[in-house]
Amino acid sequence: MIARPFGIPVYISPYWFVVAALLVVVYADSLTNQFTPARDRYIVAAAFVILLYVSVLIHELSHCVVALAFKLPVRRVLLYPLGGFSEIEQEPPTPAREFLVSAAGPAVSLALAAIAFGLTGLIHPHLPHVLIDQLFRANLLVGIFNLLPGLPLDGGRIFRAGIWRVTGKPAQATIAAAWAGRVLAILLIGIPVALSGTNIRALTSYSGPWPGAPSRSRRTCPWPRPSGGQMPRRRGPWWWWTTSPRRSPS
Ligand SMILES: [Zn+2]
Repeated sequence: MIARPFGIPVYISPYWFVVAALLVVVYADSLTNQFTPARDRYIVAAAFVILLYVSVLIHELSHCVVALAFKLPVRRVLLYPLGGFSEIEQEPPTPAREFLVSAAGPAVSLALAAIAFGLTGLIHPHLPHVLIDQLFRANLLVGIFNLLPGLPLDGGRIFRAGIWRVTGKPAQATIAAAWAGRVLAILLIGIPVALSGTNIRALTSYSGPWPGAPSRSRRTCPWPRPSGGQMPRRRGPWWWWTTSPRRSPS
């Protein structure tokens, strides 16, 4: 555990440090044409990686703070190499609260992007300008990506809240949003594969579990327990939904 902002314990995975160091080296390397002294490259790369993870942390804390405001128990925030999770141990009881908890993260990411964008016009020295511009792009990407309307992204939860509101059936809403997540996963993987000219048959003959969404949908179906089940819910600002397991309560 590294800190307790708003009383929420924040944990960092040990792999985080390894991947963060790798990111700094790779990113610094890619800046060779932009900054001549190697020292500047490493300053920009290290500052960017730290600011990126701070942005991710702020995104997660936004979900948690709104959840706490609705008296939903928040267990902790975890920072992984590819993003972060908020563990909120109870489902919001109404679609409106589900919407607000889910929308808080992307809204704050987009607000950070807007602030960074405003600052790029005010800060002209090359090094800080590049840094703030990168921060703008990173937060914009985090905000927009997470608004994609499929579970288990924030946008999927917002979509689910909308269907829940219209139909009054949270279980149906979960199934619809999980299917949207499946379609999104196919598009996100299929489009780059198709563009790169790789044989798509390799993908369609793949018989294993679908990436992310379906295995999750099985677990997310029991979500709408009226009494508020013990299933911890996780939210992540990145592509964690294709890489990270949703853990059962331990
Ligand atoms: Zn989020």
